[in-house]
Amino acid sequence: MAKRSSAHTRAQKEGKVRDNYTCQVCGSQKDVEGHHIVAHQFLGAATIDNIVSLCHACHKEVHRGNIDITKF
Ligand SMILES: [Zn+2]
Ligand SMILES: [Zn+2]
Repeated sequence: MAKRSSAHTRAQKEGKVRDNYTCQVCGSQKDVEGHHIVAHQFLGAATIDNIVSLCHACHKEVHRGNIDITKF
């Protein structure tokens, strides 16, 4: 459990570095977070391929279903 969670934390960090800490929806560099494209409770992988960097505002919209990041 702890092992899986640290792998995801590392992947989120690597994803943000890859994306230059830039939101992939709006280009903001404020409050950028790593989002799992496939949530790990649905067997999403703990790899950077499964991470997209989003600012806090866009991240919230993705989780509300207002932004479909699978189109990016
Ligand atoms: Zn954004
Ligand atoms: Zn998320």
